[in-house]
Amino acid sequence: MTLDIARIRKDFPVLEQQIYNKPLIYLDSAASSQKPLAVLKKEEQLYLEYYGNIHRGAHFMADKATLDFEGVRDQVQTFIKAANREEIIFTKGTTESINLVAFSFGEAFINVGDEIIVSEMEHHANIVPWQMMAARKGAKIRVIPFEDNGRLMVEKLDELINEKTKLIAVCHVANTLGTINPVKAIIEKAHAKGIKVLVDGAQAVNHVSVNVVDLDADFYVFSAHKMFGPNGVGVLYGKKELLEQMPPYQGGGEMISEVSFEGTTYNEIPYKFEAGTPNITGVIAFGEAILYLEDLTVEAVAEYEHQLLVYATEKLMEIPGMIIYGTQAEKSGVITFNVEGIHSFDLSTMLDKMGVAVRSGRLCADTVMQHYNVSGTIRISFAVYNTIEEIDLFIAALKKLVMMLS
Ligand code: PLP
Repeated sequence: MTLDIARIRKDFPVLEQQIYNKPLIYLDSAASSQKPLAVLKKEEQLYLEYYGNIHRGAHFMADKATLDFEGVRDQVQTFIKAANREEIIFTKGTTESINLVAFSFGEAFINVGDEIIVSEMEHHANIVPWQMMAARKGAKIRVIPFEDNGRLMVEKLDELINEKTKLIAVCHVANTLGTINPVKAIIEKAHAKGIKVLVDGAQAVNHVSVNVVDLDADFYVFSAHKMFGPNGVGVLYGKKELLEQMPPYQGGGEMISEVSFEGTTYNEIPYKFEAGTPNITGVIAFGEAILYLEDLTVEAVAEYEHQLLVYATEKLMEIPGMIIYGTQAEKSGVITFNVEGIHSFDLSTMLDKMGVAVRSGRLCADTVMQHYNVSGTIRISFAVYNTIEEIDLFIAALKKLVMMLS
């Protein structure tokens, strides 16, 4: 399917503005994507027409909001092809989803001396919750390294896995290197030894078509805000039989069946893990983001972003002193780089003044920075609304700055 990018851009009016009198070039969608009008309008419509607290409604608006909210659970189930709707838990983001699993899986299944494997290319959100859990439970973290070219050394799992290994937590797509990891093979290897796997899909869901049943992932987590949805909404997919054995993460309303001072009983999944009033508006508007993405199709989006990736990589390589971190063929639309002799912060600040929004610094991935022995980098990332013309403008701006600064 060929996408009509000019038409798509009309759905994102935010892109039509000038920043410092220069046309905005938004190359930071891996941090957070912009939102199409359909998502914004849904939020507005909810607040204007039928806002009410969900699951406890004795009135029309609360009932309608509940129906819509639960409808989005069905949409997410279909989107990631989960077997059961109760395997979809709404959280406030990938970070909260991982913290939930680290706490709750840890309470249920981790004992002193057990081991958890993470990779060297993880976002901090897929390292620190495991470290906290390991400290609490007396467990140990082991690490799958990556090669300088961004390839995860999956073969090292044979050395890392032992009878103490309980869980592997790994990203589907790395937020710095862009590497698309062979998660299905990792899961197969892990399951052969009875080990569970959590896949961090924050950078994957809108670039890779995800089928959690085919992957056989035990947990799959992602955030709405990176896929055209609102911020403050995330998803935890977990296999039913695991979620049922795991204790609640937070206590409060909704997650209970009955409360008394003699003892409290908990609700069924997914509600057991959804204490308190959730982000009702955010979840309902997220439904529009899923529709938007399904309409474009993840496959067509990925193919288009790949063209942008290949073009931008070629153009960047023309710049003297260019170092690109992560050069795998299986790569999504992010490019992390440095220019020799120029500080990433100086470049990103000056790019901003030229209307180009990029991410710079440690990218929430200190272990990747440590791997390359750098204190910071610049990252550009693409979404379906970016164009070849924008890349040309960005490259021209970058070339000018590199001449000035070197
Ligand atoms: N994991 C990866 C791979 C990410 O890229 C991010 C965000 O950049 C996160 C986790 C954390 O996501 P959030 O801040 O939405 O919780």
